[in-house]
Amino acid sequence: MVVMKFGGTSVADRAAIERLMAIVRAQRQAEAQQEGGDARGPIVVVSALSGVTDRLLGVAAQAGAGDIEGARNSLRDLHQRHIAVAEVITDAALRAQTLEDLAGEFEELERIVAALAVLREVSPRWMDTIAAAGEILSSRVVAAALNAHALPAGWVDARRAVVTDGEHQAAAPHFPETTAALMTCVDPLLASGRIPVVGGFVGATRDGVTTTLGRGGSDYSAAIIGACLGVAEIQIWTDVDGMLTSDPRIVKDPQVVPHISFAEASELAYFGAKVLHPATIQPAVARNIPVRILNSKRANARGTLITAERPSTDRPLTAVASKKGVTVVDITSTRMLMAHGFLSRLFSVFDRFKTPVDVVTTSEVSVSVTVDDTRHLPDIVQALQAFADVSCEGDMAIVCAVGDGLQRDPSLAARVLTSVGDVPIRLVSQAASRRNITFVIRESDVATALSRMHESFFAPYPVSASVAGTRG
Ligand code: ASP
Ligand code: MG
Repeated sequence: MVVMKFGGTSVADRAAIERLMAIVRAQRQAEAQQEGGDARGPIVVVSALSGVTDRLLGVAAQAGAGDIEGARNSLRDLHQRHIAVAEVITDAALRAQTLEDLAGEFEELERIVAALAVLREVSPRWMDTIAAAGEILSSRVVAAALNAHALPAGWVDARRAVVTDGEHQAAAPHFPETTAALMTCVDPLLASGRIPVVGGFVGATRDGVTTTLGRGGSDYSAAIIGACLGVAEIQIWTDVDGMLTSDPRIVKDPQVVPHISFAEASELAYFGAKVLHPATIQPAVARNIPVRILNSKRANARGTLITAERPSTDRPLTAVASKKGVTVVDITSTRMLMAHGFLSRLFSVFDRFKTPVDVVTTSEVSVSVTVDDTRHLPDIVQALQAFADVSCEGDMAIVCAVGDGLQRDPSLAARVLTSVGDVPIRLVSQAASRRNITFVIRESDVATALSRMHESFFAPYPVSASVAGTRG
């Protein structure tokens, strides 16, 4: 059994939902063949149609500002878009029923929005109720579309399936209760050979108050549901081929990373590898369930597999990444030589101004750190100057090479540093995990450094490797 999660662009319009159906059908056929009988599942988790969550949050803001006309117009647009997408439901009776369901959801949204516009206040609780509509709507359309195309499906109300705490807009799941809820609302569908379709991102408290798991939370939903049911694999269907060996805007011809460990993916997340946030798949990884990132527009591409551990390959590195807009702060105090308490005093300053520190390097008398949030930098510098000399240098960038291979090969770190050639390196840091080597260079050197690193460590993959991994 697998969980297949389809992101916003993979349900964006009629064509996207048609691709989704072909992908689900292929999965079902493959599974039936394997099992030598009737197919069970898959479980389908969907995002809102792309852009809809943003629009709904906009509606909430309009209501909060008392702009009832604006909010109503936005809802009308959204309703029209869903009606158009519902064309994908080719069975007239099923389509009529779905249009009625959609109308019901929009009527309720209008009532809520009208009340909030009078109050001129939208609490996080009502934000969640409004935002959740996106996934409720998309999941209803997809369930009906599957049914209309001979893929027997059942709509699952996410508010009955995923039980969370009451932390609105960032709710955390209660796993035992969610497992019990899934047994009640998903298991019977599976047992009768149907495909459960559930909206991601959405849950509810024990008392039935609607919550959301945070932006991008549909991946989290897929991982939670997969972990609770102990599925064999979670597939994240999106609009890119997977995680890349580097940023395509900087490096020529980056390649898809075929297999990445969870820890490696976590290191890369900071550098804006936006495909998915590793924290959201943590529940799956904790249960050793593989997660696969796949492209719904190129269903045969092999994608990227993420697992807790990864078998070693001949590839020393997994990816190289960079982050611009970084400031280095150098803090020096000879008075502090051999004195205790210097570091704790120093970091308490950054803490007081709620400014995260990323790379840190130290010597006996000086410490260099990088920050990317410089809003409080003048205050921070002033506070540090009470006990140290401070200088700052902006327009810097962090460059990072990630790979479990760094743990195995002690010479690799040196080779990474040499690969950038004559690019001046400002700081170097190698984390205790030794899964990455991180250094700081001038922003203007990023393209050169990253390209040189990529060229040195990522020779094009042999064609046979990608053909062997092709999926059906
Ligand atoms: N629709 C939600 C969002 O846009 C959740 C998701 O797509 O994962 O944040
Ligand atoms: Mg997403």
